[in-house]
Amino acid sequence: MNEGYAVTLYSDRTPDQWLNQSAPTGTAFLYASTIDIERDLGMDYWSDDMFEGHGVLLDFVPKVGMKPMTATGLFEHGRPGCGIDQRMRVSRWLEDFESRGGKLVIETVTAERLDEISLKADLTVLAAGKGELNKAIARDPSRSHYSNPQRKLAMTFAKSKSGRHPKEWFNARANGMNAAKFDFFAEEGECFWVPYYHKDEGHIYCLLWEAKEGRRMDKFDGAKSSADILNAGKSVIRDLCPWEHDIVDDLQAIDDPYGWVAGRFPPTVRMPFGTMPSGGKVIPVGDTAVLFDPIGGQGGNHAAKHAKWLADRVIARGDKAFDAAWMTAANHDWWNEYAKYAYAFNNTLLEPVTVAGKALLMEVARNEKFATERFFNGFTNPKSFFPYFENFKEARKIVKAYKTTPPERLRADLPIWTNALKVEIAAKSLFAKNNYPSPGYKTSVLEDV
Ligand SMILES: Cc1cc2nc3c(=O)[nH]c(=O)nc-3n(C[C@H](O)[C@H](O)[C@H](O)COP(=O)(O)OP(=O)(O)OC[C@H]3O[C@@H](n4cnc5c(N)ncnc54)[C@H](O)[C@@H]3O)c2cc1C
Repeated sequence: MNEGYAVTLYSDRTPDQWLNQSAPTGTAFLYASTIDIERDLGMDYWSDDMFEGHGVLLDFVPKVGMKPMTATGLFEHGRPGCGIDQRMRVSRWLEDFESRGGKLVIETVTAERLDEISLKADLTVLAAGKGELNKAIARDPSRSHYSNPQRKLAMTFAKSKSGRHPKEWFNARANGMNAAKFDFFAEEGECFWVPYYHKDEGHIYCLLWEAKEGRRMDKFDGAKSSADILNAGKSVIRDLCPWEHDIVDDLQAIDDPYGWVAGRFPPTVRMPFGTMPSGGKVIPVGDTAVLFDPIGGQGGNHAAKHAKWLADRVIARGDKAFDAAWMTAANHDWWNEYAKYAYAFNNTLLEPVTVAGKALLMEVARNEKFATERFFNGFTNPKSFFPYFENFKEARKIVKAYKTTPPERLRADLPIWTNALKVEIAAKSLFAKNNYPSPGYKTSVLEDV
């Protein structure tokens, strides 16, 4: 719009419905570089007051009952990010839209209407999240790694019963930083505590459980409210993370009847465009283009970066048509520049830890500088992870480079991991044809020891 394009936005909800009668579409912890896009466009009204999340406190547990392997590190060298309530963001942006030169239509777009719109407009972009309308663009089987959901998801919010700022739950263990807390259980699933700026409550944590089906974390079936999810989630934490009992005792639900999400979906990549019955074409953006499992905090960040990239590409096209060839090239270029790395990184987190992953994790736990520069920094810049994230030789090279500097932290539990890794490497070298461990390869540190 800033460049003079006439833009019509179709939304199935009014700003008020978004703010007061909607569930958030996810946690959407945004990294600082993503918030920068909103800052540059004059769309950021919240980051000055947000609950600044600087990095991660990770507890990794190979088998329930084992002592966690703990690590800390910063996102983007400590530049703060946050899960800023999407209901606040989207509602405000919809309110601003017409004053900034766009046309807003409140309408639930059907497949027939999409057909009409795509015939009339020079370019039709579909950003329907996980909505039904996505069926207008077929799944791309060659890029979609999964056909089934990989985790059962449950998300809600909590504040401190004792009235503390919730950052105090983890500050001390996280060397004073405000932490996103990750609990990774190799066999059960994951639990995330995400610094969140809630539309009514301000600074709270958003809690997300990613349960493996049939395992001990899989306790959220039938949840119909935030209270159901928080109660089930508390029992999961008591069961799996005994070291967090005092925090569970301090967890309190907030007053937000729409503040929860539960369900499952397969991570999915769609074709570069869809062709409507009348011949109009539709290009996907955000979740409609690449739908990520939330495990690596990629979806919301990808959506914002993708939208900005696509808008720049539209402007660069000038007066030429947005035809099938242009849509295909735009989709493939974005995939090759960014999305395929984000997707591969994110999918790796859904799989059993690889040999390369173990080598990296040990150094992450040993050396906070490495954790910051080579691990948590990659969450916002996933291309930087490759090839070492999936290739043991490359991982070893990167780790070795950091061994020349003194470790910032040495942990007593590391010998267990070192021995496990040695045994596993010896065993694996008998089977490996190349250095890319198969995603299905099952590993268990405990068994190996
Ligand atoms: C539990 C959970 C936790 C998450 N945590 C993170 C995280 O920490 N970090 C991160 O980066 N990402 C996270 N994500 C992913 C993130 O929420 C999404 O990737 C992001 O919201 C995608 O944005 P989008 O604009 O593509 O889709 P959406 O945010 O889903 O928006 C789609 C829009 O389309 C509208 N719409 C749909 N159908 C129609 C229709 N027929 N007519 C008109 N309008 C329609 C909807 O109302 C909605 O406004 C998480 C997701 C989940 C489920």
